[in-house]
Amino acid sequence: MSQSPAHKRILLKLSGEALMGDDAFGINRATIVRMVEEIAEVTRLGVEVAVVIGGGNIFRGVAGGSVGMDRATADYMGMLATVMNALALADAMDKQGLTARVMSAIGIEQVVEPYVRPKALQYLEEGKVVVFAAGTGNPFFTTDTAAALRGAEIGAELVLKATKVDGVYTADPMKDPNATLYTKLSFDEAMNRNLGIMDATAFALCRDQKLPIRVFSIIKSGALKRVVMGEEEGTLVYA
Ligand code: UDP
Repeated sequence: MSQSPAHKRILLKLSGEALMGDDAFGINRATIVRMVEEIAEVTRLGVEVAVVIGGGNIFRGVAGGSVGMDRATADYMGMLATVMNALALADAMDKQGLTARVMSAIGIEQVVEPYVRPKALQYLEEGKVVVFAAGTGNPFFTTDTAAALRGAEIGAELVLKATKVDGVYTADPMKDPNATLYTKLSFDEAMNRNLGIMDATAFALCRDQKLPIRVFSIIKSGALKRVVMGEEEGTLVYA
């Protein structure tokens, strides 16, 4: 097996829930540290890593605390939640010897720098991990869409969607013991089977840009490294 990575630049989408660990909400420090270790390992292989971080562990615009709120206002709150997660993630990265730069899609300059594409590309070339915060900067969108958008903008070879399960199944593996894992799916197959891998906007963008998505478990130790080494891991959605 070849020792060099199969991918030069990746976009990793981490949901807010991924940061919770077994907690009911918020940020679980041990979980975040473990995740950063996995990211550090792939950067040591020379892979350029950009991260889009979600906010669902702190605030979700369309549910919970936002019931009865103006949707756009709630969504801005959701985007601010992603900034908090990005700060926590970048802090954990710095503590583990990675150099991280947070870039926000909404102006919040006293806290983090704004997203500027050439700057992001420069950071990646310098081996820094770029954490994209505040989603797309627009209400009515999701951080999955931000992952597709930033992935396309920075020329990532692959969008990695980190989940708690190790890929896309024929049914919910937590509920159905007969559920089987798809190792590969085309965008059309995934759409026809209504598998809900990402929201429709994110999915359409990846499909149009021929940007493959790999769904894998961030909890499984070494999975991220196996993905960048081109090994079979999780589910690949291809154009
Ligand atoms: N959000 C938004 N526009 C974006 C990205 C996110 O309005 O481009 C808001 C939206 O309210 C969403 C919340 O931020 O519910 C958190 O993002 P998301 O649900 O994608 O986070 P995740 O589920 O990945 O933790």
